[in-house]
Amino acid sequence: MSDATYLDWPFFEPRHRQLASELDAWCSKHLAHTSHDDVDAACRTLVTQLGAAGWLRHAVSGVAHGGTHDVIDTRAICLIRETLARHDGLADFAFAMQGLGSGAISLHGTPAQRDRYLTRVASGDAIAAFALSEPDAGSDVAAMQCGARIEGDTAIIDGEKTWISNGGIADFYVVFARTDDAPGSRGISAFIVDADTPGLTIAERIDVIAPHPLARLRFDGCRVPLSSQLGGAGEGFKVAMRTLDIFRTSVAAAALGFARRALDEALHRAATRPMFGGLLGDLQLTQAKLAQMATTVDSAALLTYRAAWMRDCGQPVTREAAMAKLVATEGAQEVIDSAVQLLGGLGVTRGHIVEQLYREIRSLRIYEGATEVQQLIIGRDLLKSYGARVQR
Ligand SMILES: Cc1cc2nc3c(=O)[nH]c(=O)nc-3n(C[C@H](O)[C@H](O)[C@H](O)COP(=O)(O)OP(=O)(O)OC[C@H]3O[C@@H](n4cnc5c(N)ncnc54)[C@H](O)[C@@H]3O)c2cc1C
Repeated sequence: MSDATYLDWPFFEPRHRQLASELDAWCSKHLAHTSHDDVDAACRTLVTQLGAAGWLRHAVSGVAHGGTHDVIDTRAICLIRETLARHDGLADFAFAMQGLGSGAISLHGTPAQRDRYLTRVASGDAIAAFALSEPDAGSDVAAMQCGARIEGDTAIIDGEKTWISNGGIADFYVVFARTDDAPGSRGISAFIVDADTPGLTIAERIDVIAPHPLARLRFDGCRVPLSSQLGGAGEGFKVAMRTLDIFRTSVAAAALGFARRALDEALHRAATRPMFGGLLGDLQLTQAKLAQMATTVDSAALLTYRAAWMRDCGQPVTREAAMAKLVATEGAQEVIDSAVQLLGGLGVTRGHIVEQLYREIRSLRIYEGATEVQQLIIGRDLLKSYGARVQR
């Protein structure tokens, strides 16, 4: 059970409230008993289920291509991620990656690219992935080395990508590669690469503390037609950043979903656990902990839905999205840790929901820009607004 009164906040329209409540009911019915023993199979099943139920339609833009709207509704994406994360972290992952993996096509795809990929992403018939990071280019994206040599109407990709979510099960990857010698973030272009393209191999499957499909990809003379380029030549960095601008806010929403679930579990335990002749919740130290958890959850929710609402209003959200991700992910880690503490031994028991949340939340503070990167974005933006010149 979750406190849904936040849905009355002015950030939302009636369709958002309806969406959140319908999805919550769907999750209770369909996600309660999903097995994650085989993570690849579970993820494929979840994508199929989410597609069949119509939820993935929110992950792409363009009604003609299966999307719910012609432009991405950031508030809908955030509400979906928050709700899925509250019920099942892997379901949130499956939804999020369909959006992130196809986001560049939604934003920059040609009509032919949108026809070929978006409808299948929305129906759950194709699994998408976003391949930006490399072994030596994570936070420092501009240090990217993976290259694409253009020969006539073909791009030939050589190099590596790592930490690629859905790596190994994806049907296509949006791959960022250097197409000319321009330094830093210039000279990077984006390409759609089908998973069965010769020259693309899964070099390694990576196992992380909250398992989901993840891999290092190898490109050896991998030839793709130039018609698979997304955006113009050299515009890859812009394509990547515009995609991340939408999905960074949704990472905050997922963290919020994990934190709400932890708070629910902690409240239930505090209200029912007999202790010292009363209940755990009778103790004032418990009440203080719960108060801090609830305040952190509301702060994260306000920042998350402010950023989502601003983006839907067409306003720039770089600073606000960074604030939302920073506060929601760091705050969720604290809320979940408090829930583990309140549950005592149960909280660290393998398979218990708060133990799962404890593992689930950790990587959200690292991917799509680590906390320190969000701090830099906010700090630089503040100084820029003040008129100061920032060197780095
Ligand atoms: C579970 C998971 C899924 C992922 N999925 C994808 C995916 O689908 N596609 C994709 O392209 N990538 C993906 N990534 C990669 C992710 O985006 C990178 O891990 C992230 O950008 C950090 O890069 P890195 O791991 O190389 O760490 P590094 O860049 O080496 O950073 C290490 C640490 O340095 C600190 N740091 C970074 N910058 C600064 C700074 N300016 N000042 C001070 N400290 C700083 C931070 O604490 C950071 O965590 C995923 C990662 C994980 C863990």
